[in-house]
Amino acid sequence: MSFLKDEMTGLSIEDIGAKKQRSMYRLKIQSKFAIMERRFEDAIATLTKILQCVTLQYGRDDNQTVPILSEMCWCYVQFGDKKRAVQSLGRMKRINKNHPLVTIQEKLIRQMRNSGNRSRTRVEMTLCKCSNPYCSKVEHKKGEFSLCDRCESVKYCSRQCQVQHWKAGHRKQCGK
Ligand SMILES: [Zn+2]
Ligand SMILES: [Zn+2]
Repeated sequence: MSFLKDEMTGLSIEDIGAKKQRSMYRLKIQSKFAIMERRFEDAIATLTKILQCVTLQYGRDDNQTVPILSEMCWCYVQFGDKKRAVQSLGRMKRINKNHPLVTIQEKLIRQMRNSGNRSRTRVEMTLCKCSNPYCSKVEHKKGEFSLCDRCESVKYCSRQCQVQHWKAGHRKQCGK
């Protein structure tokens, strides 16, 4: 009878997944349009939302965050906010130093002109999934989980998860 229950609530697990996917696509399209129309503040705000979704689902250090951070970095470069551009690049580097987008953004930042503009969009700390791939816990409030104090790019719900992920491979990634 469980399928009947699903019917009654109106949403099955798959529907919820599809709904998330759709809203993600919508945000991605919104950000592309904002970039095309050179509305960089809007683009940054939308990209922040996308970054939040990804962080919530896959954790802070997931490779999928790199292209999003790269687009944010590009917006800051266009906008002339060097400080924020450098911050986004730093975060990309902590996740994957060897990503080809890192080289591209580094070059753009070197060549950019610092207009003294400051973006008004605040990039807030987001709720985060535990970085241990074997754990699916998500923070209930921002900053609940603690960062790995060596690399500051992964977050764990517990000491056990940190140890497990360390043994499963973070040892090789950390601080690289
Ligand atoms: Zn965990
Ligand atoms: Zn680490």
